[in-house]
This record gives sequence, structure tokens and C-alpha cells, in this order.
Amino acid sequence: MQIIRDIAMLRRAVSALQQGGKSVALVPTMGALHEGHVSLVRMAGRVADHVVVSIFVNPTQFGPNEDYAAYPRDEARDAALLAGEGVALLWAPDVATMYPGGHATHIEVSGLGADYCGAARPGHFDGVATVVAKLFNQVRPDVAIFGEKDWQQLAIIRRMARDLDFALDILGAPIARDKDGLALSSRNGYLSKDLREAAVALPDALKAAAKAIAGGGEVAAALAQAEADILKGGFDSVDYVALADADSLERLTEFRKPARLLAAARIGKTRLIDNLPVG
Ligand code: AMP
Repeated sequence: MQIIRDIAMLRRAVSALQQGGKSVALVPTMGALHEGHVSLVRMAGRVADHVVVSIFVNPTQFGPNEDYAAYPRDEARDAALLAGEGVALLWAPDVATMYPGGHATHIEVSGLGADYCGAARPGHFDGVATVVAKLFNQVRPDVAIFGEKDWQQLAIIRRMARDLDFALDILGAPIARDKDGLALSSRNGYLSKDLREAAVALPDALKAAAKAIAGGGEVAAALAQAEADILKGGFDSVDYVALADADSLERLTEFRKPARLLAAARIGKTRLIDNLPVG
């Protein structure tokens, strides 16, 4: 596996991979890789001839009081894991390569980025959309894979790719979960054993709410019950629990398909997100 940190070298290496009409799939990540990332890499390997993974902890998607400095980083471990998965190329630029001095352009996907995590983390999705657009232009893959774990992010990236005519396919990969049902996340490592055990209240509450709503229960009551269950389970606060149109992300007060339950809640110093389809 090649590890590349320079844009000109990246372009040459990707062109070489694409020789003879071969396709390249990109899996963008922030590192601290777990089985969820591995499932994306394996999907990439099934849909394209070569897999490129990027690792970049993107400072512009973290708020001033968020965990940018503390975010887990272990490139040597990640690189060994990716090499074992048959990844052709690891794109690992530093911050100065991604944002050279004077960098002044950003992408805002209006509407889709305003609610949910966008409301709780102002500027977050502008940072995500901008860095993903840059990764698309740097790597120029045929397809890019994102996890359904970050449902709002996936919707925003699909919209951006359509709006800006990026010539690639965007695929969503199912959420990889631990045995108890908690969605895998690089941030789960922040949790003590007790908090980790309590965190299962988040997927459990969403499962119960999805069942209630699909069974004809009142949406507002199911959402209020989910929020109460999350707090009772040991979370300190709930940023949101909402039923949304799965594509437009419009908030739904009545159930109609396709719908998705979306939630974010804080336990200790850790903010966790999750989502589930309904019906
Ligand atoms: P991150 O490194 O957290 O920015 O995530 C990189 C990619 O992996 C994103 O597309 C995430 O949606 C995806 N991802 C993270 N955790 C999971 C998971 N548990 N299941 C599926 N995809 C995931």
C-alpha cells in the first residue's frame, strides 16, 4: 500500500491505478479505524478495482470547544489495518497541504445542513462539505463510500455532488454495530466501561420508537418517550430525537415513508449519534 501526502504524487498514483479503464473507490475517514470503517473499505473493494482511503482529521468541521486536539490518531495502526484489507493507496495529507495559507473558499449546503447536527454544531457541515469536495477533486475517484451512521452527512454529500456536478457515484454503507447494538464510532473509546454499557440506551430507545411509529403510534409521543428513555438510561442531555424524511431530512410530525429516526445525545463528555429506518 502506498502512503501519499503530496497532491501531485497522489494525482500520478491515482492515474496509474485508473490505467486500462480500472475504477477507483474512495473511502474518506478521520482515522482511528474500527470495523465500521472496514465495512466501508470492503464495500469499496466490491464495487471498484482499487480502493483509496483518506485519513484526515479535518479541523474546519470541529467547533472551538470540540475534540479536535483530543481526537484519537494512530496512523501506523490504521495503515497496517488498511494494508491487510488490500487497500491500494492511503491519502494522508497534513493540514497545510489541505488548507494552504490564504485558503478562503468553502461550501455550504443550505437547508439540509441547518437542522439536527447542523444546529448543535454550527459550521460543522460546511467544514465537511468543503473537505469532501476537496477530497473528490484531489483523488477524482469513480465512486465514494460513506456510512449511513452519519445519515445527515450522507444526505448533504449526495446533494452537494448533484448540485456541483461531481462525476462520481456516492454509495451509502449500512451502520456497523457492536454486539449490544451501539453503533461503532471512533468516539466510543472516550467512554468508561460504565458509560459504554449505558450508551446502549441510545439505539434501544430508537428501536422502540421506530417500532411504535411503524405500528401506528403517535410520532410526538414516541419521540418524547425515546428522549425520556435515553436520559433514564444514563445520558446527560439529548441534542435531538427526530423523525425525518429520509431524503430531504424535513421533520415529520406524521409517519410517511421513507422515514428515518435521527438522534444525538451526550453522555459524560462524549456526543453520540445514531439513526434507524422506520417501517
Ligand atoms: P469518520 O472517520 O468517523 O469520519 O467516519 C468515516 C466514514 O465511516 C464516514 O462515512 C462514516 O459515516 C463511516 N462510519 C463511521 N462509523 C460507522 C459505522 N459504525 N458504520 C458504518 N459506517 C461508519
